[in-house]
Amino acid sequence: MALSEAAKRVAAEFEFTAEQVNAAAKEFVREMEEGLKKDGTHLSQIPTYVTAVPNGTEKGLYMAVDLGGTNFRVCSIELRGDTTFSLTQSKVAIPRDLMVAKTSTELFSFLAKQIESFLQTHHTEHYEGHVRRRKTHSSEQGYKDEEIFNLGFTFSFPVHQIGINKGTLIRWTKGFDIQDAIGRDVCALLQEEIDKLHLPVRVAALVNDTVGTLMARSYTSPGKTGTLLGAIFGTGTNGAYVEKLDNVIKLRASKETGDYDESTGEMIINTEWGSFDNGLETQPNTPYDEALDKESVNPGIQMFEKRVSGMFLGEILRRAILALINDPKVPLFSDETSAQNDIHSTTNILDTSPLHKQWGVDTSFLSICAADNSKGLRVTRQALDKDYGVAAASEEDAQAVREIANAIGKRAARLAAVAVGAVVLKSGKLDVKSTEDKAGVEPSGGRGEGPEHEEGAAGDVKEEDTIDIGVDGSLVEFYPNFEEYMREALREIEGIGKEGEKRIRIGIAKDGSGVGAALIALVAGKVG
Ligand code: ADP
Repeated sequence: MALSEAAKRVAAEFEFTAEQVNAAAKEFVREMEEGLKKDGTHLSQIPTYVTAVPNGTEKGLYMAVDLGGTNFRVCSIELRGDTTFSLTQSKVAIPRDLMVAKTSTELFSFLAKQIESFLQTHHTEHYEGHVRRRKTHSSEQGYKDEEIFNLGFTFSFPVHQIGINKGTLIRWTKGFDIQDAIGRDVCALLQEEIDKLHLPVRVAALVNDTVGTLMARSYTSPGKTGTLLGAIFGTGTNGAYVEKLDNVIKLRASKETGDYDESTGEMIINTEWGSFDNGLETQPNTPYDEALDKESVNPGIQMFEKRVSGMFLGEILRRAILALINDPKVPLFSDETSAQNDIHSTTNILDTSPLHKQWGVDTSFLSICAADNSKGLRVTRQALDKDYGVAAASEEDAQAVREIANAIGKRAARLAAVAVGAVVLKSGKLDVKSTEDKAGVEPSGGRGEGPEHEEGAAGDVKEEDTIDIGVDGSLVEFYPNFEEYMREALREIEGIGKEGEKRIRIGIAKDGSGVGAALIALVAGKVG
């Protein structure tokens, strides 16, 4: 079989038709609604207790800390009230022995000490006040309100959130294991250690990174209309959006509900959409997806994440390429020189190339393929040589790999459109329109330029008709056609169409765990 024909056949397996996109979007809306009613559904739809998004006029000095894995980040953020901010930060690696400490005190007192030294270095005015008080044995209650830093705590482990600054740890992940912390309120654990040091810091908010993305975008977005959705397409994928409070039925029914400001009539919901699994019949599925899932640590779940996020796309590509390599009828990498590499050999199959190792292909390779405009696909061939041990890949080889890589990237972006489109549809925002569009104005910031080139939406849409979406993550930031493919699929969704898609503005929201956390601390400060 000709190589190009074989590659086309594999690429076609990743097709996700307009009809399937529509069916999936309908199912997504249904699951969103179901998740708002009760626990234990496919989409967790977690109430975050954050009931307002910023409009860019927020002001003040806030702190944010981020405990997410290998590092602990401490920062202070000055919100200038004009959609801009300045950020000061420090980062320290978490000592491995603290990740598996006997008691949670050991870890949390370490974190509190980092906050203390941050204040000492960057905020002497606060720190000196603190030393004075400590000398006179004053407690932190002795601080005046305006002296206290409100802090947003981004904690990227599974928690059961029961208030804006209250959430109990469900389990540790990513190599942490401190038994006595399980079931305890992580904000209280941090506050206790902060108080022992008499620091003028109040843990005001427990922050999810996706909510941070939404808040950060809403503060910095042009037009001050408020952002509807914050979405992450990085290692994983997730989205948080603004929902009508009345629709959050399970929160109303819950007995353990903490305080929140009801006056806005809204609450941000963390969808946890990586677990959108249902309707596999409507989702595109290939043998490579199935094999990937089977050999993953969590088979049968997180199906959406496994088709959309950076952690998995390279691995899907690897499996698809391997299927061609292993097919004796397909002449992939069959040039004499690349054959010398023993890529087809089964004797030293594990040693020859990362193509033979689980997770051997990084998703950034998809971006390399998609961006390659070089003569004879030189750049892709070089990457195959340098990173994947395929010497002397031919142009046809590179073309075949690129075709499959593009199909995987395109499918991911079209699936992303399902999630984004469903949130837009569910919001009802497309049903409301101010007046006629401005006539005769050429669209600016045309489609397909990628979100880093502000802004994705057409310029002939009035600001009040714009639906703003903040995105973050390497995939959406660096994969060349991600936004364009996503927009193409959005136009195909019934109820969105060309008109609706034009109204959607997509922009990068940087630094959700810094400025986003600060903004949540600000909102929380108003409640508490
Ligand atoms: P995180 O989501 O962990 O905060 P990132 O947003 O940087 O971090 O996402 C990392 C993921 O993005 C990894 O899975 C990586 O393979 C993928 N990635 C990194 N660079 C690129 C790129 N240029 N194009 C596409 N994906 C990329």
